Parts: sequence; C-alpha cells; structure tokens
Amino acid sequence: MEFIPAKTILQKSTCGDRWFGIDYNMNLYKGCPHGCIYCDSRSDCYRIENFDTVRAKMNAVEILERELQTKRQKGVIGIGAMSDTYNPFEKQYEITRKALALIRKYGFGVSVDTKSSLIVRDRDLFREINERQNVILKFTITTAGDELSKIIEPHVCCSSERFKAMQRLAGEGLFTGVLLTPIIPFITDTEENIKQIVRLSYENGAKFVWSRGGVTLRENQRIYFYDKLDRYFPGLKGRYIHTFATNYVCNSLNKNLLNIIGEECDKYGLLYEMQDIIKACKRKNARSEQSGLLFPD
Ligand code: SF4
Repeated sequence: MEFIPAKTILQKSTCGDRWFGIDYNMNLYKGCPHGCIYCDSRSDCYRIENFDTVRAKMNAVEILERELQTKRQKGVIGIGAMSDTYNPFEKQYEITRKALALIRKYGFGVSVDTKSSLIVRDRDLFREINERQNVILKFTITTAGDELSKIIEPHVCCSSERFKAMQRLAGEGLFTGVLLTPIIPFITDTEENIKQIVRLSYENGAKFVWSRGGVTLRENQRIYFYDKLDRYFPGLKGRYIHTFATNYVCNSLNKNLLNIIGEECDKYGLLYEMQDIIKACKRKNARSEQSGLLFPD
C-alpha cells in the first residue's frame, strides 16, 4: 500500500439530514479494492486514479487529532463515503482503529458505511463511543444471495458474512442497519431478493433498512459496469442501453420495490425513512454536549 500526502482529513458535511445525521465526513484512505461492479466512487468526476489501488493518507491520525482538538462543535463523523475504510490493509495498519480511538477521546460520534466484517474488530471502541455519542453502523447489502454478492462485490466478504458481522455488533447494543443500495436493474431488483434482505436484516439485529433505489452510471464507471455485465451477465448491456440510454440514475422498472421495502420493514418493526433513522440514533447527543468530558488515551 502507498502513502500519499494529506493536508486535511475532516470535512464539514452539509448533507446530515439526508445522510444519517452526520456533521463531518472523513476518508482515511483513497481508492478501494473491493471491486463492486456498480461503484459510483470510480467515476471520473472524483478524480481518483487507479481506483482499485488503496492509498493511505500520510499522517492521517496526527492531522485528525489536530482537527478534533480545534473543533468547537462536537458531532457525528461519517466514514466510508468514498472508499470502504475496512479494506484489507486496515488489518495491518489500523489507521481506522486509531482514528476511532481519537473520536472516542474527543467526544465525537461516528457513522460508518462498510461491507467488511473487519469492522467487528473495533466493537470495543464503538461501545465506548456509544456511551456518550451516536454510533451508527451500516452494512451495504444488495443481494441476499452469497453467490451473486461474490460476482457483484467480488473482493469483500459475502452477504451472509456481513449479516453475521451485523449481528455481532447489534449484540453489543450498537445501532446497526442495512443500506440496501443500489438496487441493480435486472440483477437484484426482484421482490424475493428485497423481502429476503429485509427479513435477514431483522433476524440479524438491524434497526433499519434504507434504500434510495437504482444504480448510478456515468463516464468511465459506465464502461466498467458494462464490461462486467458482458462478462457475468451476457446480453444485459444491450438491455441497459435500450432502457436507460445515458441516464445517470438507472432505476428498476419495478417501481414497487421501495414500497415493498417499507411494507416489509413495517412488518418487522424496522425503520426505513431517513428522518426516523436519524431521530432514533440521536438520543445521546444532548447528554454528551452537556458532559463535555473527554476519554483518556
Ligand atoms: S466498497 Fe464501496 S467504495 Fe469500495 S468498491 Fe464497493 S462501492 Fe466502491
């Protein structure tokens, strides 16, 4: 793994009410090796060359500590928007783990998006952060079938392992849930798949299942996606071109799916609206703002 220079780590977020109530964003790594065929972060507009190569930001932990010390407003830090922070190198370098220790020390909350079961390693830190601040742990799961997940998300653990990891974290009293996104037209957009994911989410301790629907395709990333379709789903590329032309968002023709997610979630008592999810995990904020205490190193 390479190390690349970085000036800043934390960025103020402006999309908290649309994305799990986060106040800040942070990416400790650049690029992601998990190889998801639909990955939006691969798009040219983000200017990440060699996207599949992981690069760690040099001195990320030191920079983050400086930034956390000077932030007046505590808040929830989102990790994993542009690359999965639990890539295979994290096992050895523990950059995410060190960052979580700082998040705990300075009294911030954390919101993680991942597909990797490596997140379970850090349950002790999540538990401690959770004593005073919000912790929200999200697993992206697009298919209930392991065989399909190994094709569309080839270099990370399969769906059943993600569910197991979620169960482990939920068992520690942590607020966990599923990002059922994207729903990939003609591949994962069946009622059966959606219903199974919601049921398995419930059975494995999720508090919510959130989805925003279709796959996004643009520039080079469309070419990457179509190459994978040709390889694993012969004939589907033509169907995409015919159905979606150059649309950025390619939604399933089964418009009913988001309703089905809502109905299934209601059946199992899971949340699925963003505002409800944010409200449910915000309870601790007021308390932690008042206490102002810091954890020791
Ligand atoms: S885990 Fe996320 S960032 Fe990594 S390749 Fe998959 S979609 Fe992209």
